[in-house]
Amino acid sequence: MSDPAPRRRICPSCRRETSSLKYELFLESWLFLLVAAAYEVRPFVACPSCLRRSVWKKAVALLPAAHLSWPLVVFPWAAFLTVCTFIPGHSSQFAISERNPAYLDPPAWRRWVAALGRTFFAYLPVLGVVYCAVALYLTRNDDAHYRSSARTGLIISALLTALLAGAILYDGCVNGWGNAKW
Ligand SMILES: [Zn+2]
Repeated sequence: MSDPAPRRRICPSCRRETSSLKYELFLESWLFLLVAAAYEVRPFVACPSCLRRSVWKKAVALLPAAHLSWPLVVFPWAAFLTVCTFIPGHSSQFAISERNPAYLDPPAWRRWVAALGRTFFAYLPVLGVVYCAVALYLTRNDDAHYRSSARTGLIISALLTALLAGAILYDGCVNGWGNAKW
């Protein structure tokens, strides 16, 4: 599993040694056009405090282009990465690239499994959670790009599941469990 004493790495941003170098994908650009969105994603490699700073700087810079979608896409993503920076240890991405320096893209089926997590199953409550958890497991040794597709799908579907459960509970409490209309 993990190294007992993980070697320290240099943060490319502040040049300080860190025991928690993070490799996370975040939006480089995001243009929300009401019915569609154009976006680019890029890896952010930094120590926890530098990562938080660059992610939130980028998130704020994306406000005008993201407008209505900002609280739905940019904010949750940035908030999630902020939480990730408090997990001690280097990102698994570094171990993956060290174990396999000549990194090859996963086979097509695994790329599809990961891509479908974000583009389709993310919007299905309950079933999406199960699918994306399996996808995350299958892509555990793959590049961050693929893992993050499955992870994003998992987060969105988990949020939708929570919303749905909340709505059902709310409806049950307000209207009484006996005379539910559905
Ligand atoms: Zn740093």
